[in-house]
Amino acid sequence: MRFEPDTLVGVLTTQPLNRVLDYRAPEGGCAQGDFVEVPFGPRSVIGVVWGAGRGDWDPAKVRSINRVLDAPPLLEPMRAFLIKAADYTLTPLPAMLRLATRAPGLGDPHSMRRVYRRGHAMPSRMTDARRRVIGVLDDMGGLALTLSELAEAAGVSPSVIKGLVTQGAVHEEDTPRDTAFPRLDPEDNPRELTDDQARAAQVLRHAIAKGDYGTTLLKGVTGSGKTEVYLEAVAECLAKGRQALVLLPEIALTSEFLSRVEDRFGARPGEWHSGVTMTERRRLWRMTGENGVQLVIGARSALFLPFRDLGLIVVDEEHDTSYKQEDGVLYNARDMAVLRASMCRAQVVLASATPSLESWTNARAGKYTRLDLSSRFGAAVLPKMRTIDMRPEALPAGRWISASLQTAIKKRIDIGEQALLFLNRRGYAPITLCRACGHQIGCPQCDARMVEHRFLKRLMCHQCGDTMALPQACPNCHVEGRMAALGPGVERMGEEAATLFPDARIATLSSDLFGSARALKSAIENIASGGADIIIGTQLVAKGHNFPNLTLVGVIDADLGLQGSDLRAAERTFQLMRQVAGRAGRVDTPGEALLQTYQPEHPVIRAILSGDDEGFWTAEAAEREAAGVPPFGRFAGIILSSTDAAQAFDAGNLLARNDADLRKIGAQVFGPAPAPVARVRGRHRIRLLVKSTRTAPLQAAIARWIAQVHIKGQLRLAVDIDPQTFY
Ligand code: ADP
Ligand code: ZN
Repeated sequence: MRFEPDTLVGVLTTQPLNRVLDYRAPEGGCAQGDFVEVPFGPRSVIGVVWGAGRGDWDPAKVRSINRVLDAPPLLEPMRAFLIKAADYTLTPLPAMLRLATRAPGLGDPHSMRRVYRRGHAMPSRMTDARRRVIGVLDDMGGLALTLSELAEAAGVSPSVIKGLVTQGAVHEEDTPRDTAFPRLDPEDNPRELTDDQARAAQVLRHAIAKGDYGTTLLKGVTGSGKTEVYLEAVAECLAKGRQALVLLPEIALTSEFLSRVEDRFGARPGEWHSGVTMTERRRLWRMTGENGVQLVIGARSALFLPFRDLGLIVVDEEHDTSYKQEDGVLYNARDMAVLRASMCRAQVVLASATPSLESWTNARAGKYTRLDLSSRFGAAVLPKMRTIDMRPEALPAGRWISASLQTAIKKRIDIGEQALLFLNRRGYAPITLCRACGHQIGCPQCDARMVEHRFLKRLMCHQCGDTMALPQACPNCHVEGRMAALGPGVERMGEEAATLFPDARIATLSSDLFGSARALKSAIENIASGGADIIIGTQLVAKGHNFPNLTLVGVIDADLGLQGSDLRAAERTFQLMRQVAGRAGRVDTPGEALLQTYQPEHPVIRAILSGDDEGFWTAEAAEREAAGVPPFGRFAGIILSSTDAAQAFDAGNLLARNDADLRKIGAQVFGPAPAPVARVRGRHRIRLLVKSTRTAPLQAAIARWIAQVHIKGQLRLAVDIDPQTFY
């Protein structure tokens, strides 16, 4: 839709003002989807031409669009996606648009840079320096270099190059900085697939060739070749000339993955995550919109890049909790991937060894296609799993590695193999307590314990990230020298392992031990190449790194996730234990996984050991169905917070008392109750939980219901549709 100069158009900005504003089309007109700069109060802000103006504003006051920006327009399927995503998550559209425009310098013109290539003339007088410059350019075969690149490569000063430009021997020109990414070749280096893999790849290729929407759950144990299979789907998508997106749960995984893609397609894909520079972000954002990049590997927010023609979205480790964004706009990237794909005729591949119950159920109901890879690639076999019953072990205080586990570790490292000790607890010890008065040190801002991090030599709050020095004297009774660390964290496990195995090389992997993604990456590479005998790690190590020499996994506390009443406690423990155990043994060495537990008879522990995955999911599904909880019913969380506890509670009580909008759709409301973490960063938090059937129009009802609350002062209200955590 085009708008002639001066006609009324509606512009959506990223300003926190939940409506589309009327402006006049600028000189030269504009089109729906164009990025524009508009006056907004005394400032200029960026927006998108959303459609025709509404004309509900005093015509004398309507201002003109300043200019249309030199950026790829937001296409119709993307606008439709943002609208649906906003409706689904009950997020104001401007906040949704903000997610889709997270690139710096969006309003800048395509910035240019000056480059140099070989000209036609020969210089009047040849010198050594001049010869070197021409030599370098001849070697570049027509490719251009910047002045500093060329000067450095030829070992000359810039003035030599400028001299050659004057003589016409070197050509100087300005080219856009945001250049397209190198082309990937889908046929560059295809793998020979196993029968199982080839069958799965064929189904995916076929689905992509049809060019329709569809979602496939690709289930296969770790090492079965899921990545190889979905790269075939990527190849098909690229061959069709459409773009592909692969979402990964962890940045630390991307570098290994990028090399794999490069090996397969002959060039590196685009990369989108928090570790990418601003210049590269801007380039990638533009190139997704201009079809200058074929494949993007990214974190969940890559889902909001303005792809011109997206044909495939892969969500690797689809069950991973990090796909749920837990602050700002609360969305689940896995679910939004399905939504986005359905609006642009794309395919979705959800890959996992241990799918979420949601995806498993959708596959069972026939909404998703299901593909299974049943065995590991090559000779690799699944690790043997067994429990270590901790009750008879009678460990001394401050010790967590049982004698049985110790023996198993020793056996492995003696023959030059690696062992992994898994404990999902960062820091040194979860509790710091005064032995004189029993006082536990808590965060001053949050209802949470301070966790000792000996590596940082500080106490840290895992809710707000605040740190403080470890006090000498108890803040409560002021007795000195009686502060004690209670319970295990990974850093403490490192200490225990060092005592038990004084000659072993021990590496502890925990996100907070590394200042940067780069440092973490190099630590991982070092371990993978044999730089450690014993690896001690949190959840971070569960996520798909290949340690080829790792043959033993010891889980320090398999019961950890089973405590508490979380809806997904069983599912999460099952996924995590399976995932961690899957790290053991790969190509030619069989692995072993030992689970330390105080409740070896627990049904979840038994399911983990039995290898009967389908049995576990079937039982878990039956239980949830009987209770009418997700994925068979729906939940929504309402979180009210304020620096004033009474204000949050009053708003919660108001909602609980006036629930007619919810009752109309048969939904129930529970609460208000103080949130499990009742104070974060000084704000008091209370929660309500809404429960409805799967098909009830939940969002619309909630929107009407919460409109009763007057948001003023310090009060904040957040809606969490399909909550994953209840803290
Ligand atoms: P998953 O993604 O299921 O964990 P991967 O795709 O990473 O499995 O495969 C596990 C290992 O086996 C990788 O090192 C991979 O390169 C190798 N592999 C899997 N399938 C093949 C194949 N058909 N040809 C060669 N190597 C393969
Ligand atoms: Zn805190």
